[in-house]
Amino acid sequence: MENINVYSEGRIRTLKAGMSLAEYLAKHPGAIQVEVPTVEELREWNSDSGCDAIDGCWVEPDGECRHGFPSWLVALGMI
Ligand SMILES: [Zn+2]
Repeated sequence: MENINVYSEGRIRTLKAGMSLAEYLAKHPGAIQVEVPTVEELREWNSDSGCDAIDGCWVEPDGECRHGFPSWLVALGMI
């Protein structure tokens, strides 16, 4: 089974085995499901002038989108 990743309270988290997304969201209403990018994507963004935010918006590498979500580089602590 694939890991389910979420962004909640300022951190990327992986749900424990056996916990469904619905169960997690019931406990953490502000959380969103995210798809963690590959190392290649992160490298490209690092050398690029932009980066995906965790919700898929296009933002500055060290910025956050208009929904208040950080770029992947920031979320993963890479910059
Ligand atoms: Zn956004």
